Amino acid sequence: SYRKGGYHAVQVGDPFAAGRYIAQRKLGWGNFSTVWLAYDTHSSKYVALKIQKSAEQFAEAAVHEIEVLLSIVDGDPSNSKCLVRMIDHFKHSGPNGQHLCMVLEFLGDSLLRLIRFRRYQGLELDKVREICKCVLIALDCLHRELGIIHTDLKPENILLLSTINPAKDPIRSALIPILKRPEGGTLKGRSTTTMVEKRLKRRARRASMGEAEAPKQEKRMDGIDLRCKVVDFGNACWADKPFAEEIQTRQYRAPEVILVSGYSFPADMWSFACTAFELATGDMMFAPQSGKGFSEDEDHLALMMELLGRMPKKIAIGGARSKDYFDRHGDLKRIRRLKLTPLHRHLVDKYNFSESDAREFVGFLCPLLDFAPEKRPTAQQCLQHPWLNLKNSNQREKNVQSKVNIGMDSLKIN
Ligand code: ATP
Ligand code: MG
Ligand code: MG
Repeated sequence: SYRKGGYHAVQVGDPFAAGRYIAQRKLGWGNFSTVWLAYDTHSSKYVALKIQKSAEQFAEAAVHEIEVLLSIVDGDPSNSKCLVRMIDHFKHSGPNGQHLCMVLEFLGDSLLRLIRFRRYQGLELDKVREICKCVLIALDCLHRELGIIHTDLKPENILLLSTINPAKDPIRSALIPILKRPEGGTLKGRSTTTMVEKRLKRRARRASMGEAEAPKQEKRMDGIDLRCKVVDFGNACWADKPFAEEIQTRQYRAPEVILVSGYSFPADMWSFACTAFELATGDMMFAPQSGKGFSEDEDHLALMMELLGRMPKKIAIGGARSKDYFDRHGDLKRIRRLKLTPLHRHLVDKYNFSESDAREFVGFLCPLLDFAPEKRPTAQQCLQHPWLNLKNSNQREKNVQSKVNIGMDSLKIN
């Protein structure tokens, strides 16, 4: 992709915007861009520099994303709404063409990485609650203040706040605070670079040799609040001018999008519920696959009904695509037998939730997963839900332990 119309190749130390930003290291990449950690010589802070591919369709997408990011700056002047902040934007010419660049505040790892690092075990419910609060604040601002639908909410697009100062800290992951898993920084690129870069390297080397620094990290960071921000507004749209029929990443896609019965803000609320479930369990809520005689869409609808109950007939047959999946009675045409497992049982049996944890979590999630989008609570309403202010960490470990004990007792009796 590093050719005409594609990515811009960056070397550590490269200057951008007439020398204001100095590239430090690559943070990530997507289909549209590469993202670099850069040093902002004006503010003396680190920033994330998103450098778009140069071909026309990518430039157009960047113009749109910049427009959305600018309206976020307007709608959240105090930068307190858990939405990524754009600091600047400019054009950069290189051998592959002209690249639109967005300068964003520097954030940490995504929730997807957090889930992976937890080996798909799920986070404590207290942590899930903290994350949910942030995401709901973001959605409330987007929906109510700005009239914007994100359309691609998922763990990958929610980034932790970076508690790490890249100048002082070679460890590249924001996960260390949470996971207590020290990791030496890897620094790619030219060896003769800025002073900062050299300092980073020295520290990385020291850390990788297991010097005192790493344990200090663990201690300092134990028990911090989890804060995060919503990112990636490349697919966001204003609710009054939706431009795509098919939105959202498959697993987080709302039923009204599959059925093509019209979508709006509630589609984000569905994705939010799927994300909350995944954080709490480590598993995607719905992971549909096509099979013999049925499509991925049909499997997806079947999985939804197995967990949430039958879709009301009016909704099932009400979409422009309904006829592809449902018969006139509102039954799936090609998947006839459903294995119903209510969400509550699923959480208790498969994920070792205590009865009370499961009941409370379901009380929060279920309304968000209403097949009727207009019945789903708004982000604002969700923020009032009592579940967000419960405190019961380690409930699950206790539950697992008591199950083990019960097992032992019954053995003794027998
Ligand atoms: P996609 O194909 O997902 O639309 P994209 O080209 O639009 O990708 P982003 O998803 O915005 O790019 O960013 C790519 C990656 O860069 C992210 O997954 C993340 O790892 C990293 N990244 C993006 N923004 C930031 C930020 N503000 N701070 C730190 N890292 C970031
Ligand atoms: Mg992305
Ligand atoms: Mg994008």
